[in-house]
Formats: sequence, C-alpha cells, structure tokens
Amino acid sequence: MYELRDLAALQGQRIHFLWQRDEDSDGPVLGFFRDLGSGVSQAADAVAGAVEAVVNAVEEVVTDVIETVATAARSLFDWLGGALSGIPLIGGALQAVFHWIGGVIGGFLDLVASLVKAILGIVGGVVAGVVRLVGGAIGGLLSWDGRTFVKGFNDVVGGVSGALIGVVLKLGSLVNAVFGQEWSSRPLTPAERDLLRRIYRGSIAFYNVRVVDGASGVFSVNDDPFTVGNTIYMKSTPPADYLGILVHECCHVWQYQNMGSRYLGDAAGAQAFVPDAYNWQAALDAGARRWQDLNREAQAEVFRDAYRFGRKRPPAPAVPGDFFLDDPVGDDVSFVAGGRDNTDFARASTAWVRGDWSWRPSSWL
Ligand SMILES: [Zn+2]
Repeated sequence: MYELRDLAALQGQRIHFLWQRDEDSDGPVLGFFRDLGSGVSQAADAVAGAVEAVVNAVEEVVTDVIETVATAARSLFDWLGGALSGIPLIGGALQAVFHWIGGVIGGFLDLVASLVKAILGIVGGVVAGVVRLVGGAIGGLLSWDGRTFVKGFNDVVGGVSGALIGVVLKLGSLVNAVFGQEWSSRPLTPAERDLLRRIYRGSIAFYNVRVVDGASGVFSVNDDPFTVGNTIYMKSTPPADYLGILVHECCHVWQYQNMGSRYLGDAAGAQAFVPDAYNWQAALDAGARRWQDLNREAQAEVFRDAYRFGRKRPPAPAVPGDFFLDDPVGDDVSFVAGGRDNTDFARASTAWVRGDWSWRPSSWL
C-alpha cells in the first residue's frame, strides 16, 4: 500500500510511476494479479475523484452566485426596512414586513440553490460511485481488497440521500421563513467572522453564512445545533460553548460549499452507523491518517478541538483560536488533547481545508 501525498498540487503535470513490488509472499503469479487488481482499483478511484472534483467545482460556482443573490436580497430588504422604520406609527410594522419579504425571497433562492446542488450531487455521486463500483469490483476480486467498491457504494448512497435530505431541509427553511420561524436569522457578527476567517481563511463564503439563534420552527425536534447549507441553527447553545460549536458547525458549511449536499447524507450516515462518530482520535487509532478520511462529524470536531485546546506554546498564555493565527499554521503553536500531541495532524488538516478558493464568485465581493 502506497500513498501519494499532495497529489492535488501536481494537477496538470505529468507524473511517472515506477511499479515495484516489495511484498512477494503470494508468489509471482498470484502476486501479479494482486498488483494488477489494486492498480485497477486505484485507477478507478482516481478517475472517480476527478469526476467529483469537476462536478463539485461547477456546482459551487453556480450555487455560490444564487446564494450570494439570496443574501443580497435579505440585506437589501433589511436595509429598506431600516430606512422606513423611522416613519411614525407604521415604521415598525414596515420594518417587520420588509424583514419577512427578504427572508422569504432569500429562503426561496436558497431552495433553488439546493436543487442545483441536489441534481449535480446526484449526477456526481452516481457517476463517481459507478466508476468505483465497477473498477473496485474487478480490482477488488483480483486483489481481494474491497475498499474502492465500498467507497463507490457510499458515493451513490451518500450522493443521493444527501441531495434528498438537502432539498427537504431547505424546504423546511422556506416554510420557517414564510411563518416567521427564523425571525432571528442574522449574518455573522464581525467578531465571529474574524474568528472563523482566522481558522478557515478564504475557504468559506462567509457573506452567505446565516445564524439562527434559539427557536427554529420545524427544526425544533431536538436541541442539538445543526447546519443546513449555509444556515447554522445554534438552538440554545450555552454561551460558554457557543464559539466552539460555531467552529464545528462552520466546518459543515465548508463541507456543503466544498462537496455539496452529500455531506448531509454522509453526516447522517456517520451519526447513525459510526459508534462515537465525533471521536476523531479513535478514527486515527483505527487507521485513518488524513483529515479527508474522517467522517463528516469527526472532521468538524477536529477544528472545534484545535480551536479549544490549540495554543501558542508556553510561556504564552493559552488563548482559544491562537493555533490558527498564521497561514500556514506557525511553528510556535501546539495542540495537545486526549493526552497526545496532535499538532502535526491539525497543521496538515488546516492546510488542506484552507486551500485556494479565489475562483469563487462571492470571494470577489
Ligand atoms: Zn456536526
């Protein structure tokens, strides 16, 4: 088993592979088929990964434009309402009506964006999944390694279920907006945005992020904070946990903007089927080596923990968020949690997530 690090950085370049076997216990004949099989699996995995990357990029450019218009509509109507609020007697009512109109238009456009994400998400998930299923089946039988096949199965299930969950939830948001159940919907405060930007840099379109505190209408089935697309429902998170939870939920926004609605299917699957899904250290113990290999909840929890427990090295005081002061993450920080040093893992994870997002339309605002 070999691993190529930073393959994305080599995109567009020609790479030569020298195929050499260092484990020959199966003998030359069986060993040949084993190598051939894992080669087929890995080629299928690479092709599927390229399909996903292209579909996700198209998806994100289109929905980013729609969501940015949605946000602009919300802001415009709130601004108009604010301008009219000074009118005697009816000013307050006008302001409320305009806030409502902006919320409904924004909710409708968000639903349109989620439909685009859903359709492309199904296409990308099914195409990538079928490539992995076919290549993984052939390669997996030869090499007796079913991982690519299982990954393909997850692509199809995650892509389709995430798309359906995404549309249903955005429909819920629109119903909420129509009945005034997301009244407290607001942009990030400047302090929140500064903190989240320090962590995720330009990899999230913060302009489009909305936070709903407290009551959340049709989403009030439990008290757990959660995220639908760009909207974070904080429910009744206590002040002491607020920013840490916000960092976690914002990672789900990153997942939505980066990999489309399938993160909803993946996250739901992780919560339902992975014991202790938030425990990323257990996932590392079980063999995961990269942030990309963690389930969606564990991914989000890495950033919450690095925010809470990462710090500048002593004697500097421990300040939450100081781990992320520099880009790339500096040499003067440490992140110890659960009795072990996670500094290098968190540094690599942060570099991966921050990436280069300057191609996204909303980042030009
Ligand atoms: Zn979560």
